[in-house]
Amino acid sequence: MTEVKILKDILEVNDVIADQNAKLFKDKGITVFNVMSSPGAGKTSLTIKTIEAAKADGIDLAVIEGDIASAIDAERIQETGVKAIQINTGGACHLDANMIRSALKHLDLDKLNALIIENVGNLVCPAEFKLGETYRIMLFSVTEGDDKPHKYPLMFTEADALVINKMDLLANTNFDMDHFRKTVLSMNPDLEIFEVSCTQGMGLDKWSTYFKSHIKNA
Ligand code: MG
Ligand code: ZN
Repeated sequence: MTEVKILKDILEVNDVIADQNAKLFKDKGITVFNVMSSPGAGKTSLTIKTIEAAKADGIDLAVIEGDIASAIDAERIQETGVKAIQINTGGACHLDANMIRSALKHLDLDKLNALIIENVGNLVCPAEFKLGETYRIMLFSVTEGDDKPHKYPLMFTEADALVINKMDLLANTNFDMDHFRKTVLSMNPDLEIFEVSCTQGMGLDKWSTYFKSHIKNA
């Protein structure tokens, strides 16, 4: 099974660089949030709402945007006045630790309290590639269906916090919130869960409080 061996080697090399990134972040006092979700769940919208709340508290943060192509998301982030570095993966469906290390050269790490990394939209391999982050945030929208924890268990299992977005659309779906919550908590009992609507604003206070309270040097 050569393919399995190759993937294992790739992940081992990635883990070494991720540990180096993590040490650098720790030395610089930067809390790092790796935000993962499928495409269209609302990562950039959540990031913008989170930036607004953090800036009001005087937290210095920056964003690394991962996308296969385009700088659309980084441009949206820059409109908030926060520096955003766009990584185009050129086809790769996840960020890896080496991409983050390269992007860090464009940031003044001595000035930052927090860094948000918006991963490539994908429910599968971003969960496998550590970046050196402090916290893993999974974003999920009710329009994606309540069966996804069964189909994509790793990301739900690895996350520190789960933000459930598009709650304003819940009544128009057959999403079973009780079933969904029971499923994810059976897989990950320590998971912190937030229900929000990035477009309507509901639940964002609680999420922002969690985010800000987890930044060590703010
Ligand atoms: Mg995005
Ligand atoms: Zn991938």
